Amino acid sequence: MDYLIFPARCNQGLAYYDTKTGIRHPSLEYDLFGRLSGACAERGIALTAYFNVGISSEEGLRHRDWTTLCFDGRELREPRLTPFVRTMCYNTGYRDHLIEMVKEVVRNYPVAGLMLDCLKSFPCVCPVCVGEMKEQGIDCSDEDAVTMFAEASAIRLARDIARETKKINPDLLISCNYPPPEKLKEINDYYDVISLPASEGYESMPVTVHYVRTLDKPVINMTGRFYDWGDFGGLLPREAIRSQLLYGLANGMRPNIGGHFHPAGDREDAVLDRIEDIYADLQTREEWYDGATPLADVAVVYPEVVRHPGGDDSLRGAVRMLDELHVQFDVVSRIPDRSKYKVLIFPDGVAFDDETARRVKKHLEEGGAVISTGASGLNVSKTAFALEEEWGVKFLGECALDPAYVDVGDKFGEGLPRMSLSLYSSGIDTEPLPGTEVEARLVKPYQNRGWDGEYAVTYNPPKEATATPALTVNGNVAHFSHLIFSGYHERASVELRRLFENVLDALHPQPVLKTGNLPPFARAFVTEQSGRRMVHLLSYIPEQRGKSHIIEEGIALTDIRLMLRDKHGSIKKVYTAPQREPLPFNHSGGYVEVTVPESRGYSLIVFEEQ
Ligand SMILES: [Zn+2]
Repeated sequence: MDYLIFPARCNQGLAYYDTKTGIRHPSLEYDLFGRLSGACAERGIALTAYFNVGISSEEGLRHRDWTTLCFDGRELREPRLTPFVRTMCYNTGYRDHLIEMVKEVVRNYPVAGLMLDCLKSFPCVCPVCVGEMKEQGIDCSDEDAVTMFAEASAIRLARDIARETKKINPDLLISCNYPPPEKLKEINDYYDVISLPASEGYESMPVTVHYVRTLDKPVINMTGRFYDWGDFGGLLPREAIRSQLLYGLANGMRPNIGGHFHPAGDREDAVLDRIEDIYADLQTREEWYDGATPLADVAVVYPEVVRHPGGDDSLRGAVRMLDELHVQFDVVSRIPDRSKYKVLIFPDGVAFDDETARRVKKHLEEGGAVISTGASGLNVSKTAFALEEEWGVKFLGECALDPAYVDVGDKFGEGLPRMSLSLYSSGIDTEPLPGTEVEARLVKPYQNRGWDGEYAVTYNPPKEATATPALTVNGNVAHFSHLIFSGYHERASVELRRLFENVLDALHPQPVLKTGNLPPFARAFVTEQSGRRMVHLLSYIPEQRGKSHIIEEGIALTDIRLMLRDKHGSIKKVYTAPQREPLPFNHSGGYVEVTVPESRGYSLIVFEEQ
């Protein structure tokens, strides 16, 4: 351990240091934070002070004029049994009070950084906020507008804390949570990705990871030792915690395990032993993790990820599908100026403004490929495809079929059952322009789903193929008429994934990594350091047990074939880390091929140029 985050003031609003400004914890008989900072300094551990910005129960109770006046006029939020029942307004006297407390800590203790948590956008209609909104011409009766004002207030407070504290210590490392990550770029020195999958499910973290890793700042992957936030009596199995941290390390994120400090101040050795055991294992591979960056040749472009870094149904579906196919990809909110991506994927509903259309056109001119699904690619007014000539299809309107089926032609039919397949989603109708290949067609049901006055029409077998395309390919652009990623999120249809895979393989024949027989439940990530590339293999399945999902053990895989792109044949050595066990390999068709004899939960395979 070299970095510790500990509360200077917790969610309850109590300080653990000698404070002249805040409320010291009533049972604390000594300067806990001060002693901790001394102990950390002796051991060379950097200490970061945690402040909860959005919640401070005790201070809110003593200063009711500092708390959020909720949009509905209540002082307390419903339901009451949450830490967010009373939240703090960023524009009242609380603001100066908090800045003073943070400065007090930075001035008096040798802290390395600040973690500012729960900077949520609580829509507040207190007199101070309303006064400022009126000045700015913001409609206080519009909840969305009030929420956006709260977000701006949170970011302004974070910026002010950063500016004031960096006057005292310019080297402070600051990390704020909750406002859109890209709006924190000028404030955050690193990002914390906080995720407790046993509590929040296993779907959101991968989306956040594939996105935040592109923001050009260090990322800490913070998980917990417990089953749920606020759970004092839980200790997750070793592999549950370890697999989370390994997923992060495979994506260039540093590991962090959160716990609770017992109020009596007692050490919980069982917890510390587990953390020590996990860190001791991770440490054996540190040299291959340090400074390693993820390699990606595909991007999922999804502007909404800015506001929802955990993704919605379509983005979660896309990320899961690509992870299962072992594609090396990033999630980005916009196409970068100098794109390293060979394929851009626009899932389900990404409208193209003029700038996006221009960048996509440039990407295609440079030989890149595009896969879009559903309404993606339409202009902002949703009247036509923004790049109709490139897409090779004309937009006709919403698709009326419910449910819609698809008949897939020979070209992309490999591995698919020969029958009309469900799309599990809505879509649009299109008409191919001359020269565009129609590779799959929509199939209509006998009747649409619905109540017809007598019958609930819920059994809707496919009747006949229509002339309307379900999949078109024009040059390097493939378009699916339906929201197949949302459909995949809905039903996990292996056929939908296979169809997408067939299209991706055709447009992207030489990806960074090919995995011969690695099962879809396993994950493979490629990272890079100077002179070498690493393939991380993970095989963990969160099992549904009752109401929860849990990982207890890794799954053993044998004889895994991997092919890593090595255009110029520069790889001279392949081995497993940390054992440095050499693996036989050969070069073929621009790839290095190896077979990994066995992997239990996690393996790290190193491909070195020397
Ligand atoms: Zn307010």
